[in-house]
Amino acid sequence: WKNAPPSVREVWLATLEFADRDYLVYHDEKLTYGETHALTNSVANWLFQQGVKPGDRVAISMRNYPEWMIIYWACCAVGITVVGMNAWWTAEEMAYALEDSDPAILFLDAERLARVRQKPDMVKGTKLVGVRLDDVPEDVIDWKDVIATGGDLPDIAVDPDSDACIFYTSGTTGFPKGAQLTHRGCVSNLFNMLYARASSALAVMYATGEVPPDPAPVPVTLINTPLFHVTANNCAAYAVTAAGGTMVLMYKWEAGEALRLIEKHRVMTVSGVPVMARELINHPDFEKTDTSSLLALGGGGAQVPPDLVLAIEEKVSTARPNTGYGMTETCGIITSVAADFYVDRPDSVGPAMPSYEAKCVDPDGNDVPLGERGELWVRGSSVIKGYINRPDATAESITDGGWLHTGDIAKIDEDGFIYIVDRKKDMVLRGGENIYCAEVEAALYRHNDVAECSVFGIPDERLGEEVGAAIVAKPGKQVSEDTIREHCGAIMAKHKVPRYIWILDEPLPRNASGKFLKRELRDRLSAKV
Ligand code: ATP
Ligand code: MG
Repeated sequence: WKNAPPSVREVWLATLEFADRDYLVYHDEKLTYGETHALTNSVANWLFQQGVKPGDRVAISMRNYPEWMIIYWACCAVGITVVGMNAWWTAEEMAYALEDSDPAILFLDAERLARVRQKPDMVKGTKLVGVRLDDVPEDVIDWKDVIATGGDLPDIAVDPDSDACIFYTSGTTGFPKGAQLTHRGCVSNLFNMLYARASSALAVMYATGEVPPDPAPVPVTLINTPLFHVTANNCAAYAVTAAGGTMVLMYKWEAGEALRLIEKHRVMTVSGVPVMARELINHPDFEKTDTSSLLALGGGGAQVPPDLVLAIEEKVSTARPNTGYGMTETCGIITSVAADFYVDRPDSVGPAMPSYEAKCVDPDGNDVPLGERGELWVRGSSVIKGYINRPDATAESITDGGWLHTGDIAKIDEDGFIYIVDRKKDMVLRGGENIYCAEVEAALYRHNDVAECSVFGIPDERLGEEVGAAIVAKPGKQVSEDTIREHCGAIMAKHKVPRYIWILDEPLPRNASGKFLKRELRDRLSAKV
């Protein structure tokens, strides 16, 4: 492209050039770009036959099947808005999102259909299409009938400022809100992704003197987080699709299976939250797996503990560590950093993308001096339009001239590198002293035997809150409250050392994107105090 195309339609149409290449891989199934285009054309024509029009909504509620991407591109190509429903939602939560977004059609798999049956009222007025069902009930349309429609892609001019998609924020801090990702925003995030990839290749060249191959190798990407979040969809999937590469889909995250897929398909990039990278390099099969195809490993979506950046650098010979910082509310990334620039500043998320401005502000919205902590506000090309049905929440988080209040506490150094210190609310307020959970977590991860940890406030009569920590030891290792306290005491001020420590023998609970469910954990454990 000479200029950014106006809508996602053009992004998808451009991939016709790759017709013969493998696109979607799922277990033993494989679809080329050409085969996928035939399917998206069918889906778009079928939707039009059903009376669905550009601007209407169609929901997807399923795991990472190839059909997810087929429906997504079909809708985007003709201006129909996709509602990406979280596959982990209970019947209750599904009902909430369906009421909120009011889609004309709901594409769903067997497990989600079973949840609809628990609360049949949720789909009043919505037609159901069953994907990969063994038996198709009478009130459900079979996917096979949809894809038998055929025809060319309808010729439609898509409005760049219309919603390509609605994604619900993952709700680690409150009830999910439906973020409106416009076509312009999604395309602009794709360009930021391509910029990030190119600049990390340059960073490697800068460090090693090795000139990147020209043409660049066709990427193979592992899709190991759910497609209903921007990490997998707008970042990983868009970047690999625009480059004509292959997406290897995982039904759910499992480190051993991920290693097998990396070796089998010569995977180059792995997306996902940092805990996944840690599980990969700590897995007993890691040493015996051929991971030489990996170019980058790291993750985003949550704080990357600095020790993990250095561990990737040390343990994975071909891949360099990388991260991106972003939100649903920015259709993807705001910053990115890789290779030596990251190793030199492992606690940073890198500089803002060229299409973004960033500043840290005090509670009154005034800029704080350079290098000091404040809430991070960003303004740029891919900020969402708002949240559906929530003008109040929209006005609260996007103010004067498009500044998005990220809710993250950050500082910015003199080179423009951003450091996410914590979430605005992910702080323990102990006796008037702010303790940033992320700081205590990073300290705990510096203990060699700690595999997972999560730090949160525990109500305390005298101090307001006390620091609590849930810890899981590495397999075959043991930690005790005493050794943890001693370890923390040696590296942190006394008031930050967790007062309550729980050593758990099962992995910490996570949401669908792999982030720890801190609220749930805190509520469960603080009940024991
Ligand atoms: P909710 O907004 O519903 O409470 P959420 O904020 O977890 O949920 P997302 O939009 O998926 O939903 O996540 C964005 C947040 O994830 C950011 O605001 C930030 O707190 C965190 N985050 C993302 N990338 C990074 C990163 N590289 N380092 C640190 N934190 C990150
Ligand atoms: Mg958020």
